[in-house]
Amino acid sequence: MADKNEIIKVIKSINKAVKKYKNPIVAEIGEKLNNPYKVLISCLISLRTKDQVTAETSKRLFSKADTPEKMIKLSESQIGRLILPANYYKTKAKRIKEISKILLKKYNGNVPKKREELMGLPGVGPKTSAIVMSYGHFDKNYIPVDVHVNRIPNRLGWIKTKTPEETEKALMEIIPKNYWRMFNNNFVAFGQNICVPVSPFCSKCQVRNYCKRVNVKNSR
Ligand code: SF4
Repeated sequence: MADKNEIIKVIKSINKAVKKYKNPIVAEIGEKLNNPYKVLISCLISLRTKDQVTAETSKRLFSKADTPEKMIKLSESQIGRLILPANYYKTKAKRIKEISKILLKKYNGNVPKKREELMGLPGVGPKTSAIVMSYGHFDKNYIPVDVHVNRIPNRLGWIKTKTPEETEKALMEIIPKNYWRMFNNNFVAFGQNICVPVSPFCSKCQVRNYCKRVNVKNSR
């Protein structure tokens, strides 16, 4: 396992390397709009959907309804049409409406600030709740783990985990807290552009000298 200084060195190199790439969409929405409801809804739309589609469909949906009050006035099929072509748009439309109703009924129209309460909302799991805490509420106590954040530290040889829950816990033990909040943002951009899922670009990778390339069978 890499020591703390090496881990910090790699994080800094990755942070620098991804400056030229676009921010992952949900973080971008969080930074720009400072609105936890929009972060939550965009995050739901983003599941198994490309960033560009999430960006376009979120914008379209928020132009019609950007609060739970306005959202519940739309029918599920109207929401579905607005977020098409996001994958699973029908299920997502149902969830968006359900969640908006719960927010109004239980939380006075606000997005809860406790992770356990967020995870009580339908369709909201560890990843979405951590993203809303980090990018919606600007809380620095979480490391949102998606496929990229799960894959890259395992390839680097820092951790040996399978599930996002295990990964979040393991990363919190080895990464200094001041790097937590932007960890997801930068590692997602790195995972979308350099350390991609299939055949990563190891030959032009900025952290190759520190990487154990665990389970990397093919690379470019
Ligand atoms: S060397 Fe390859 S596997 Fe390791 S972080 Fe870079 S791109 Fe990913």
